[in-house]
Amino acid sequence: MIMVFENFDFSRVGQMRSLLESNGIKTFIRNEYGVGGLGELPFVEVVPQLFVLEEKDVARAKVLLLLDLPMEDSGDDWVCPECGVDVEGNFSRCWKCGVNRRD
Ligand SMILES: [Zn+2]
Repeated sequence: MIMVFENFDFSRVGQMRSLLESNGIKTFIRNEYGVGGLGELPFVEVVPQLFVLEEKDVARAKVLLLLDLPMEDSGDDWVCPECGVDVEGNFSRCWKCGVNRRD
């Protein structure tokens, strides 16, 4: 299993799960009921986390998640320093290889 998304807001994790499942990707949520239920653990341990079960689906899952995330700072188009593709300014990460934008 590979973790592809985590968020303190469980509804957000649930949305992402629905998105991936609707695209035929098998997922698993860890800490689904964790927040507030396991007071002994450090908070970081109970962040709901979305996992993709099959490694072959991970790249596609990441693209789907990336496309669905709220647009952050938009700006000029940029060129990925890793793979050299053109990326639209409203993406903060490369849609192809996932590398973070470097300003
Ligand atoms: Zn790239």
